[in-house]
Amino acid sequence: MKQATAPAAVATVELLTIPTEGVTGRQARGADCIWCADPLTAGGAILLGERIVDGVRQFPRGCRPCTGRTAYRALLDHAQDCATCRTEGGGCDKGHALQRLTKQGRAAA
Ligand SMILES: [Zn+2]
Ligand SMILES: [Zn+2]
Repeated sequence: MKQATAPAAVATVELLTIPTEGVTGRQARGADCIWCADPLTAGGAILLGERIVDGVRQFPRGCRPCTGRTAYRALLDHAQDCATCRTEGGGCDKGHALQRLTKQGRAAA
């Protein structure tokens, strides 16, 4: 029997626009913010998930301000195109994930 893929949360790397070019080794392994290249602390970083770029596995992380800003922009873009988010108060899974990230970004580090 084939195991069903978990209906898990949408991976953050697929929700946000995360740069793939000019990424340093430190950014690729999540030591520096993937957007602003600031060094990250354990508490101030948001895990963006795993991705593979040119066959290399990366674990990008973002600082809170960058993640929050990027998530908020993505949320606005998404809400325009998503009937569920536009018409239902609750919104869809993707909308939820983006809202959560936006809030995380705003929370004090
Ligand atoms: Zn940053
Ligand atoms: Zn939606």
